[in-house]
Amino acid sequence: LIASEVYRGSTYGRGHPLAIPRIAATMDLIDTLGWRETRRYLEAEPAAPERLIRFHDPDYVAALRRAERDQRLDDAERRHWNIGVNGNPIYPEMFRRPATACDASLKAAHLIARAPATVHALPGGTHHGRPNRASGFCFLNDLALAILDLFDRGFERLVYVDLDAHHGDGVQDAFDGDPRLLVISIHEAGRWPRTGAVADRGRGMARNFALPAGVNDDEFAFVIGEGVLPLASAHRPQALIIQGGCDGLADDPMSGFALSNNALWRAVAELLPLADRVIVTGGGGYNPWALARCWAGMWGMIDGRAPPDRLPAPAESLLRGLTWRRSQGRNPPDHWFTTLADPPRHGAIRPEVRAVVARVTEASP
Ligand SMILES: [Zn+2]
Repeated sequence: LIASEVYRGSTYGRGHPLAIPRIAATMDLIDTLGWRETRRYLEAEPAAPERLIRFHDPDYVAALRRAERDQRLDDAERRHWNIGVNGNPIYPEMFRRPATACDASLKAAHLIARAPATVHALPGGTHHGRPNRASGFCFLNDLALAILDLFDRGFERLVYVDLDAHHGDGVQDAFDGDPRLLVISIHEAGRWPRTGAVADRGRGMARNFALPAGVNDDEFAFVIGEGVLPLASAHRPQALIIQGGCDGLADDPMSGFALSNNALWRAVAELLPLADRVIVTGGGGYNPWALARCWAGMWGMIDGRAPPDRLPAPAESLLRGLTWRRSQGRNPPDHWFTTLADPPRHGAIRPEVRAVVARVTEASP
């Protein structure tokens, strides 16, 4: 498990979807469950610029550092780098924080290159980041850096699976057509960034499960079992990278998916056997209670621990102490405080979901 204290108290600013506790809340919840063991925990620190430029434009990295230092950029630079505009604010830790996510995923790559392991790099998952501009709240792209690092270490067959409700456009485009990497994304069709249509295979190595709103646990399991697993195993991955964004949860405000956290835990559990070297990252997640419970339970599942039926008192009081300035946050249901697992969200597997799986798994689109 890899995380960092840089996230504690860090915010993208009032009114931003990332004005909420995320990594710190998840780690605190993991601690109250007694699930952090010192010998299996690593603290990430900001990756040095020399490591970031393996993927990112040096001038862009310099601009990010300057913006953090000065807390401003002139208008031309803001537009040029997409910083300080479009949801990518200038905020106090705007270089240190994403650079720490990059270090977490690079540390994970180092660990799995050395020996078979599953590493949960919780701060990672910034899948919209571009070489030379910020995008979709992502200033850097830790996933691209980790994948490049694995290539540099001699890996030749990797599979990337993106569970976030938004298309993993930054990763798909970073490696477009590279035969070493199969990029699979499950996301809501028509959501920002509005890319990743079912017919979009990039230059042959991308597969996009663009699903309708309302996807339930059974539909998600169907997509994993009938779609993702056969595609991924056919690539015979030496290592697997799972982007574990949880904004597909029904309790999350940023997508129309209707998942319980059981669906994401089960997806990761079913994907893990594809390779004996796996990196699981975080990603999107915009309801502090839903994301902390989902990611704590994801680490528990990776670490072989079952969620308790009822949370111990310290975990409950931690969750009761979180706040969220959104309407859903004013009247939180009791199970956000008392349980780790959501009630399952079963449902019919709609014909349109079956049709997406059939098209994406076809030999040619
Ligand atoms: Zn997302």
